[in-house]
Amino acid sequence: MKKTTIPLVVTTGFAIAFGVFAADTQIEPERATELLTAQNKQFERKVVQVSENVYTAVGFHGANTSMIVGDDGIIIVDTLRGPLSASQALQAFRKVTDKPVKAILYTHSHGDHIGGASAFVGEEKPEIYATEGFGSAEGVNKVVDPIKMRRNVRQFGRDLPPAQATNRGVAPANTNDTDGGKGFVPPTIRISDDGHKATIAGVELEFYLAPGETDDAMFIWMPKEKVLFSGDNFYHAFPNLYAIRGTAYRDVLKWSESVGRMADFKPEHVVPGHTMPMSGQEAATTPLKNYSEAIRSVYDQTVAGINAGKSPDQLAHEVKLPEHLREEPYLRQFYGTVPHAVRAIYAGLLGWFDGNPTTLNPMEPKRRAEKIAELAGGVSELTKDMNEALSEQDYQWALELSDHLKWLKEGDRERARQVKIEALRGLAEREYNAPNRNYYLSYANELESGKLSEVWF
Ligand SMILES: [Zn+2]
Repeated sequence: MKKTTIPLVVTTGFAIAFGVFAADTQIEPERATELLTAQNKQFERKVVQVSENVYTAVGFHGANTSMIVGDDGIIIVDTLRGPLSASQALQAFRKVTDKPVKAILYTHSHGDHIGGASAFVGEEKPEIYATEGFGSAEGVNKVVDPIKMRRNVRQFGRDLPPAQATNRGVAPANTNDTDGGKGFVPPTIRISDDGHKATIAGVELEFYLAPGETDDAMFIWMPKEKVLFSGDNFYHAFPNLYAIRGTAYRDVLKWSESVGRMADFKPEHVVPGHTMPMSGQEAATTPLKNYSEAIRSVYDQTVAGINAGKSPDQLAHEVKLPEHLREEPYLRQFYGTVPHAVRAIYAGLLGWFDGNPTTLNPMEPKRRAEKIAELAGGVSELTKDMNEALSEQDYQWALELSDHLKWLKEGDRERARQVKIEALRGLAEREYNAPNRNYYLSYANELESGKLSEVWF
């Protein structure tokens, strides 16, 4: 097969002399490690006093839990994933006050925000607030839970050894998950009216319906101290508009609108669902505005491209964050990525077909592999090409060729498997997007351990 020479590739300001970088989240390996390590500061374990009466426990598990201190009790916003880490956070809150828990508020129904509630429920049963649609988030594709669980383990790097674990983008690695979901307590009050007001323990609160990461999300506004609890529609990283563990379509347009609405409140403090709270009107409001604009821009560029007849493969490479937002630290692609968002929007709006009749009935993978081998000049030439791609650090191409080889009877499957493992590890080294990196590494380890069935390789 004909070779093109590999030019000096420049991505995000970094130049390397060798190798091919296939996405904006791939950068020079040392820099990738440096960025990921710096992101760890966003979830170091501590209790932050956000305002006079609001405290947030960061880094006790993957998400945040917060305490609002009222006249005769406290209110808890989100409860972590299990009772063990939740009770540790409560213990830390108890250094501030021993007032009883009067209410628990769930910003949305993801497990890392609701599974530890029992740790906060005392003698005096608190009311538990959530939106009317609470729980609708994952129900739609429950039927594929077995594979989602498996992909979830990879996305979050749950099985990675400590030497390979960095973080989960907006959460630390190595959280204790043995009791995940065991402390869930169902909501007692369902909110259906947008802007619902309630006074709990003397604290005035307002609840706003805010579909985004999930349809059942809300944000909570505390007018007196101008604190806004955003849930997972905002955190310090480009939003996970699509999760590679597999999700139903997340309404990207509504997500942008919900965050834009938050900015309209001009909060003095924003408490995200993950990562550090932000304080100061400018410092808290501008990121919300920009976040909303960034999401909207990705959506608008994708829609314009779709209407111009472009395919998701093409658009995934073309759509970029607006230049003035690219370097904002809270928009770095530690968690979600722009190309994945583009593909999700495409599939969400139009389904799988890209409009090109060639793809109406594509060849089955085995047939295509045979044709590719023929083009390459035979199976041994194809194997040579794959080996060369690996040694040239063109890891994506090495992966694609190894995937062809695995279908070929005469192919050296063992060599192809080995190349795939090495190429995945090569890609992981240069990835600063945590889910991608975790997925590459986890998959490589599974291939190496022989745990994966033939379906996977
Ligand atoms: Zn979360």
